[in-house]
Amino acid sequence: MSLTLKTPIVTIGPIGKAVGSRLKKIELLNAEDLLWHFPFRYDDYSQLKTINKLTDSDVATIRGKVELIDTKRSKVKRTIVTEALVADETGTIKAVWFNQPFLTKVLQPGDEIFLSGKVDFDYYGYQFVSPEYEKIGRTENLNTARLVPVYSSTTNVTQKQLRFLIKQILKLAKETENWLPEMIEGNLQLMPLPTALEQIHFPTDQQTLTEAKKRLKFEEHFLFHLQSQAIKQERQQGHALEIKFQEQATKEFVSSLPFQLTNDQKKSAWEILQDIQKDRPMNRLLEGDVGSGKTVVATIAILNTVLNNFQAILMAPTEILASQHFQTISKLFANLDINIALLTRTQAKLKTTTEDYNSLPKSKIKKTILELIKNQTINLIIGTHTILEEKVIFKNLALVIIDEQQRFGVNQRHQLNIKDDKNNFNPHFLSMSATPIPRSLALSLTGSLDLSLIQEMPKNRKPVMTKIVDTTNREKAYQFIREQVKNNKQVFVICPLIDPSDNFGFKSVEEEFIKLSQKVFPNLVIGKLHGRLKKEEKADMMQKFINNEINILVSTSVVEVGVDIPNATVMMIEGADRFGLSQLHQFRGRVGRSDQQSYCLLFTESTSQKVKNRLEALVSCHNGFELAEKDLALRGPGEIYGTKQSGVLEFKIATLGDIEIIKLAKTEAEKIISTLDSYPMLKNRLAVYNKQVHLE
Ligand code: ADP
Ligand code: MG
Repeated sequence: MSLTLKTPIVTIGPIGKAVGSRLKKIELLNAEDLLWHFPFRYDDYSQLKTINKLTDSDVATIRGKVELIDTKRSKVKRTIVTEALVADETGTIKAVWFNQPFLTKVLQPGDEIFLSGKVDFDYYGYQFVSPEYEKIGRTENLNTARLVPVYSSTTNVTQKQLRFLIKQILKLAKETENWLPEMIEGNLQLMPLPTALEQIHFPTDQQTLTEAKKRLKFEEHFLFHLQSQAIKQERQQGHALEIKFQEQATKEFVSSLPFQLTNDQKKSAWEILQDIQKDRPMNRLLEGDVGSGKTVVATIAILNTVLNNFQAILMAPTEILASQHFQTISKLFANLDINIALLTRTQAKLKTTTEDYNSLPKSKIKKTILELIKNQTINLIIGTHTILEEKVIFKNLALVIIDEQQRFGVNQRHQLNIKDDKNNFNPHFLSMSATPIPRSLALSLTGSLDLSLIQEMPKNRKPVMTKIVDTTNREKAYQFIREQVKNNKQVFVICPLIDPSDNFGFKSVEEEFIKLSQKVFPNLVIGKLHGRLKKEEKADMMQKFINNEINILVSTSVVEVGVDIPNATVMMIEGADRFGLSQLHQFRGRVGRSDQQSYCLLFTESTSQKVKNRLEALVSCHNGFELAEKDLALRGPGEIYGTKQSGVLEFKIATLGDIEIIKLAKTEAEKIISTLDSYPMLKNRLAVYNKQVHLE
């Protein structure tokens, strides 16, 4: 049978037969899957040395002849030890392997072999411990004496087996469809796709590897940006309701606020108001650190929408956040004739100046609300994504706002292409995010969005006093917490894990909860929160904390984003070294939300100077954007934004750190989008990509 891209792995020779079914676990089914299963790193065994040139701790490869090889059972640990003596023209060296008795069958005296690995020096002289080995024969070496690919694999499938399989199917690389227009390939001098695929697996040297990576990364970024451009184009073809700026009312509203808007708030509001006056739908991201005051900016846009006799939606990722917005905005609009509904899976409420529907039984309330939305008595709908699922019929819907945008999956964002049933207008679209993205990154994440930034904090804020607490001062910290609680303040305790784990010695919620409630603070009310609790249990716990029925909340990182609990003044973080700076900063943002002085206590068991330095950055810096830049430099973007887990960007090889490639990809995508029809293969690929993204 001839080999094609669709050939199942189980039919690719004896090795395919042996491991094919195991590879299904990691979604490798056929030859094509193997071709696109890229190494996650490479061992550099390309340095070929003679035995007399080896030094201690060298990572090197030698070429020599097996002189002796023997296996014996070690009495001490019941292990099987294989020892070989290998010689070249400059000397001999010993190699040892453990529990690989078959080795004496594979390697025999007289065989020419490569050995690659780390050189150890001990009492007996130099030796290789568990080196990679490979007989020198008619076929190309795959495991030694080169840049050796290392793949993610699964139980009972070795690297050698994977390498062998992939080497066999590599000739199919030239059958892979090349949808990237030749023009782009030529202009950017990208490596041809078949070569790139061959080189990514078995690179000739570092430089060709870099070229191969560039080609393959470019493809992914390009497709992502092409999709963004397509979405943008689609939006721009849509028609939006023009929301005319209500200057007088807006001024009155702003002056009715209990505070002065910051310059960044004013500027962002202005940018939004400019956009929504147009008959093309706005698509804008409002980005500002936790506590920077995004809600009030959104409220200004809502006010203008309602005064134009249109409807608006404000969506939040959780019920608690939604109901908090409902309370806040109801207060802000208290003196205005604006009807607001809260609609989540478990809640349906109404704030209206005319009639009080809230005494209706719950079953009726929802129905009433739906009717009132349909006839536009309700001007603003606040809720969770339930709003979309319930098939609510809107009337003159002109503005959709999504809070904590990063928490919604791609799929939900696509659903937001909602249209008003009657008039076929696209709403203006504003998303808000508290994840400060460095400018360089914003470029890659927000291909189809315009960006407004709030970088400046309200003036009345006292920066959260941040301290690194060493183990000797733990008791003092607990005493401090007792005093805060005595003054009716509340405390967060963040732990890296849910359950105790022997391996790392990191604190867990379960363990700390017991310790704090039984030993440390027996008189206080302690709650716990983590991802394994049911949705309702989590919401319930959070609500209790908001109501100040709980003094101390022990939680993993699931603790709500965006929830405003001004009464919480202490954020205590266990195992702080386990978290990135941006994440720590997000935790810290849970406190310091009033004029009360708040505190962030960072606990770490680590004695590493590097860890100390990193945490020091948090002590001295209170700007989320700066911290994000630092994090980016220290940890790379994938880690910070958790894009891998959240499935926002499903990249195989591209990363958000490929700034130069991203710029190229974006430029090329912008250039080609208007003539996409002349590139049928590319258009096809984009359609497939869209489908893949939708399916998540
Ligand atoms: P976030 O940007 O994290 O969503 P919020 O909109 O929840 O922040 O605002 C946080 C708190 O700051 C709220 O209590 C809000 O009333 C208050 N606030 C907003 N803008 C200002 C300002 N310019 N001056 C003082 N306080 C403000
Ligand atoms: Mg918010």
